[in-house]
Amino acid sequence: MLFDTHCHTYLCKQKSEEEILLNIQNQNNLFITNVWVDLESSKHNIEVAWKYNFAYASVWVHPCDIWKYPNLDETINMLEKLAKNNKVVAIWECWLDYYRLKKEFENNKQCNVSKDLSECQNNVLNKNTVNSEEQKKQLQKDFFIAQIQLAKKLKLPLIIHNREAKNDIIEILKEINFKNFILHCFSEDLEFALTCLDFAPNCMISFSWILTFNSAKNIQETVTKIPLKNILIETDSPYLTPTPFRWQENYPNYVEYVFEKLCNLRTESKEKIENQVFKNSLDIFNIK
Ligand SMILES: [Zn+2]
Repeated sequence: MLFDTHCHTYLCKQKSEEEILLNIQNQNNLFITNVWVDLESSKHNIEVAWKYNFAYASVWVHPCDIWKYPNLDETINMLEKLAKNNKVVAIWECWLDYYRLKKEFENNKQCNVSKDLSECQNNVLNKNTVNSEEQKKQLQKDFFIAQIQLAKKLKLPLIIHNREAKNDIIEILKEINFKNFILHCFSEDLEFALTCLDFAPNCMISFSWILTFNSAKNIQETVTKIPLKNILIETDSPYLTPTPFRWQENYPNYVEYVFEKLCNLRTESKEKIENQVFKNSLDIFNIK
C-alpha cells in the first residue's frame, strides 16, 4: 500500500476529479492526502475525504488567497472548526518562499504571488504598502508563525513549503519549539535534512518526482542517508509529472514512480520500504 501525502485532485483538468478518485478506489492500493487552498476548497476537500475512505484532507488558506478573508481572527476560527473534522489530518500550507520574492526584485516587476501576498497582508494586517523585500519576508514570517500556533493548538502536523528560506524556517521552528511537521517536496540538501532531524527526530521529509532528476544529486544523497522512518512520498499532482507522462498531468497513482526511484536508491528490500513509508504516513497524520 502506498500513500500520496500531497496532491491536489481538484486542480486536475485533463480528467475529472471523480474519474481520478474512482480510479484510485478501483485499484485499492493507495491512500491520499488532498491539500487545498482556501475555505471553500477546504470544505470541498473534507466532503471528498468523507466520500472516499482512502482520502484525507488538509485545511488552510493559502497566503495568496487570504485577502478574500480580511478578518484573520475570524478566518482562523473557521479553519479551526473545519480542522476538528476527523478526516482533517494536517494544516497546509505553511510557507516561506523567498525565491519568488527575489525573482520579483530581480525582474523589477511583481509576480502574482508576491503581489497577492502584499495585498492580502495589507488587508489582513492593516499595514501600509509593503515595499521592501525585507518587509515582505517579515510578513511571510508572521503568517508562518500564526499557522504554527494553530497547528500547535489543534495538535495537527504542518506541511511546510520552503524555497530558499531554510535558515529562517528552522530558526522559527526552534524558537517556537514546534516539531510536528512535514517538509513537503524536499529540494534542499543532506545538511538541512540532518539539522531538521536533529531538532525534530520524528519530523517527516517528503520526496516527489524531483528525486529522479539528474541534477538532483543533493536530494538523492539525502534520501539514501536519512533514516527510513522519516521518509514520505508524494506527487504534488497535477504538477511534477513523472517523465513517462511528460506532456500530461500528474495523478496521485503516479506516486508509484517516486516509490520505485526510492527503492532503487535505498538498500532495504522493496517490501520493507513500502511498509515503513506507509506506516510513516499513518503516524504523522495520526490515522488509526
Ligand atoms: Zn502542492
